Amino acid sequence: MTNVRSRIKEIRDRANTATPGHWGVYYDGNGTYTIESQPRLIPGVGNVREGVVALLHGDHEDAQPYKDSDFIARAREDVPFLLDRVAELERVLARAASPEPCRWEGRVCVTHSWGSDTGSCPHGEAHQLLGGAA
Ligand SMILES: [Zn+2]
Repeated sequence: MTNVRSRIKEIRDRANTATPGHWGVYYDGNGTYTIESQPRLIPGVGNVREGVVALLHGDHEDAQPYKDSDFIARAREDVPFLLDRVAELERVLARAASPEPCRWEGRVCVTHSWGSDTGSCPHGEAHQLLGGAA
């Protein structure tokens, strides 16, 4: 779990120190995709951007540079979204991760507030996922 924790921290650090978003993609019509930071149209001025994040070169007919540039540009907002979602799910998981033994009342484990038609409670698995011993 230490490796998972440190990797998530490293990913968040990279996301927090990358060029601020949003990022967009400009295609030159000849195979080059420019990933731009904060591209926007200013009436009376035209298209502006804060900077260039990356350039991808390919042939005009290549689909891969288009797909790669879309992936990179969207990562600016997708990665923080996913990190926040992981944190949210870990908070929910923590509630079910108590190592206390299950105590069933009918189809509900009242120890972990878990209802189940199958008579199983995920507290052990939740405990392991959050770094506890099996
Ligand atoms: Zn339980």
